[in-house]
Amino acid sequence: MSNINNKNEIPDDLNKCVEFHGHICPGLIYGYRVAKEAMKLMDIARSIDEEVVAICENDSCAVDALQVLLGTVVGKGNLLINNFGKNAYTILSRSKRQAYRFSRNTRYDYRGRDKSEFDRLEAAVAAGKASKDDRRNLKQLKINDLLTRPFEEIFTTTEMTFIEPQYAQLAPSEPCELCGEMTMTSKMIELSDGRKVCIPCSKKSMNQSPK
Ligand SMILES: [Zn+2]
Ligand SMILES: [Zn+2]
Repeated sequence: MSNINNKNEIPDDLNKCVEFHGHICPGLIYGYRVAKEAMKLMDIARSIDEEVVAICENDSCAVDALQVLLGTVVGKGNLLINNFGKNAYTILSRSKRQAYRFSRNTRYDYRGRDKSEFDRLEAAVAAGKASKDDRRNLKQLKINDLLTRPFEEIFTTTEMTFIEPQYAQLAPSEPCELCGEMTMTSKMIELSDGRKVCIPCSKKSMNQSPK
């Protein structure tokens, strides 16, 4: 019925993001565009260790594209989430000693070739009359638009002063003195009686004593 879906045109690196994330969506495209722009601006490749650091101001789909393309991932400590609910990302390169922040300062407006179709679908969604296909097609139009627009129409880029981020903290683990479970010492809380406990136990001991 419609030729809006064009899976074949998806670049390989975006396909990797989709594989990791599970679906293609406008949010993922935001992250994809930011990652590609950061790589180009700072001439950086995917981070094997912690050379690249991403500070994300949301925890949306976009973050997954950064994980795939920039190697800024939860487990290495080079992905920081300050969830302010903003479509904004700061990418730092330790080796280049550079940092850029990318933020959105305008509402999304469709600029692609199928403007009338986009408006029709958007109106249908707003009126609660959209079919499943309508919703999918609307999403696909937005995806195509975000993929092909000049980057500066989507994000405002600001070069930031480079401040070396801390490396991920390694700390030994000790048993919590209440539950006995091994806990990183840097995350333990000292109770008034001097016992060192994990965070959940410290909260329990504040509210009530365990059974
Ligand atoms: Zn998504
Ligand atoms: Zn505990």
